[in-house]
Amino acid sequence: MDVVRELIGAGFFRVIAVPGNACGTVEHTVLLALWRYEAEGASGTSEGWIHPYYPASQRAYRAVQHCVRCAEAKGVPLRLRNDIRVKPIFARLPGFTQGRNTLSYAEGAGSRFHVQIMTLDMPMDETIPLQEEPHSLHCGDCRRCMTACPTGAIDENGYHREKCLRNWMLTGKPVPPELRIAMGNRLLGCDECQRCCPHNPPPSGETQPLVPLAELLARPKEASAALQKLIGVNLALPNRVLAQACLLAGCEGREDLMDTLQSLAAHPSETVREHAAWAEVQITKRRTQPFFAEEAGISCSSGQNTL
Ligand code: SF4
Ligand code: SF4
Repeated sequence: MDVVRELIGAGFFRVIAVPGNACGTVEHTVLLALWRYEAEGASGTSEGWIHPYYPASQRAYRAVQHCVRCAEAKGVPLRLRNDIRVKPIFARLPGFTQGRNTLSYAEGAGSRFHVQIMTLDMPMDETIPLQEEPHSLHCGDCRRCMTACPTGAIDENGYHREKCLRNWMLTGKPVPPELRIAMGNRLLGCDECQRCCPHNPPPSGETQPLVPLAELLARPKEASAALQKLIGVNLALPNRVLAQACLLAGCEGREDLMDTLQSLAAHPSETVREHAAWAEVQITKRRTQPFFAEEAGISCSSGQNTL
């Protein structure tokens, strides 16, 4: 079985083999299979938005599972791995770079790719040796992502995970109050520090289907079950999706969802209750203080509108 050919045939755009011992594994070879996706064109809406990375990663996961099963059936020692840190490998791989936004960039895809990691306990001729030293950042004088980030998560001192929106989405924990208003319409993912980067191709892909907030708030179990096909079971847990949808309703000033938000005051999840109460306050402020959004610097739907 030609593993690389199988993976390319399954939809991966590139497969890289590196020596296992350089990655801290006992197997001969580590395989990195890259799945490319396109960034979306702009689209203004107050419904829930999902970054195209997440559906792409689900498709890649299903594809790699299929390849691993085929390999097992043929006695090929190919294993899916989630215990190998990939950024240090990319940092020493020819053809890859890294930005201030902490993302790795691949030739031909920029930062718009997802990687699946496998080990193959067989030597391969096409194994690429890692460089001794990691690359320096590709940024030069550029500071665009620092300016574009809606929460100041990237500055001269680096990336601050605790301020990054992605770090708080669908975790089931209350989002820090000072970050909530920046969620805009983002149900999952944030594109600002990739969209502004000159090392990325301009957005050109189709807009993902948007998820109606009314549906998420009123029927979270059914809506989450549908979402699981798109983003996976672990991310689309009903109470987590519901808690994020509450924030989006508040950010987007969705007066039409006020009754549903109020009905969540007795919800068993503390995070849902807290986010719903916060959303009610935001919507009320908008109603009573029409210029509240502008004064607060709210950028609704900014997950897709900012280039
Ligand atoms: S993903 Fe969004 S919030 Fe996080 S660092 Fe990038 S721009 Fe900032
Ligand atoms: S936007 Fe500029 S500073 Fe940020 S990662 Fe890209 S090149 Fe580097």
